[in-house]
Amino acid sequence: MSVTVALAVSPDEPFSFQEVELGPLRDDEVRVRIVASGICHTDVAVKEQSVELPLPMVLGHEGSGVVEAVGSGVRNVAPGDHVVLSGDSCGVCRKCHSGLPSYCDEFVERNLTGLRVDRTSAMSAGGELVRGRFCGQSSFATHCVAPARSVIKVGKDLPLELLGPLGCGLTTGVGTVMNALRPPSGSSIAVFGVGTVGLSAVIGAVLTGCETIIAVDMHEARLAMAAELGATHCLQAGENVAQAIVELTGTGADFSVECSGNPMAIEQSVACLGRPGWCAQVGAPPAGTTMPMDMGHLGYGRGIRGVVLGEASPQTFVPYLASLYRSGRLPLERFVRYYDFADIDQAVRDSAGTGEVIKPILKMS
Ligand SMILES: [Zn+2]
Ligand SMILES: [Zn+2]
Repeated sequence: MSVTVALAVSPDEPFSFQEVELGPLRDDEVRVRIVASGICHTDVAVKEQSVELPLPMVLGHEGSGVVEAVGSGVRNVAPGDHVVLSGDSCGVCRKCHSGLPSYCDEFVERNLTGLRVDRTSAMSAGGELVRGRFCGQSSFATHCVAPARSVIKVGKDLPLELLGPLGCGLTTGVGTVMNALRPPSGSSIAVFGVGTVGLSAVIGAVLTGCETIIAVDMHEARLAMAAELGATHCLQAGENVAQAIVELTGTGADFSVECSGNPMAIEQSVACLGRPGWCAQVGAPPAGTTMPMDMGHLGYGRGIRGVVLGEASPQTFVPYLASLYRSGRLPLERFVRYYDFADIDQAVRDSAGTGEVIKPILKMS
């Protein structure tokens, strides 16, 4: 069948709307009619090539939609189901078996090439292959073919067009705090960069009973939203932030989450830690970024480590986030703005602007 995609071609060109052919399903695949898709910073970073993945590719990895057809081996969803799409994993390696599919041995092949593991694609144009499986989905499209493991059923009582970001941004933010850092109640935590992931980390900190929750950002609007969602202190990003956090907490923060990818913020997210203290590095710094570390500082029980996709199993974590939304504890609707699919370039520009548009969501119809 013929479907419409917004193809990322190069950093300098706008997204290119094209008709492509969607091929038949394999046994373990699902065809989804995309209802909406969030735009995540990673999509923009790939389009702009600060994260260097092959282009052209159909990006988008926060899709939500309705299942249209399933392969003969698919058991977790059926036609008509409402679903959220998330990253792909093999399901059989040691990492997948220990509940850490975001560190799957095949993570790169399955999520970052835009192709199936055997280097084929369900999408083609004029007989030429189109990279159409970014993060198991390529949701900047009216339809996609996704592996069943990327497709998660959600309740029909929920607003489907809102739910796509559960599959990446919210899983990453809430999951980094809940699954990776696991702060004991009463902890202090600093969150650097309060876009969607950082705001979700603030929510994760509230849910795990953190007492002091410090949000750091350059945008007033985002800090105001962080305060609404439970941040106890808000700091304007700048040179003296680490010292301010040490003074605020008395001995330094127990935990930090770095979501901006900004090298100065990464340095501060370690410098602000108490003894002991852990920093989760989540933001994507520019390719090739290296950083000197004060080993005397780290030596006192401090550390930094990268965290991918909140170290969550999407098939169980996304429904959990959906239930948090249902009960009002994850008020995603307060930081999204909807755009028509045709306005994807405008949505990307707005999200990079003043900080007022935190999570753009494209509506496909
Ligand atoms: Zn993402
Ligand atoms: Zn695996």
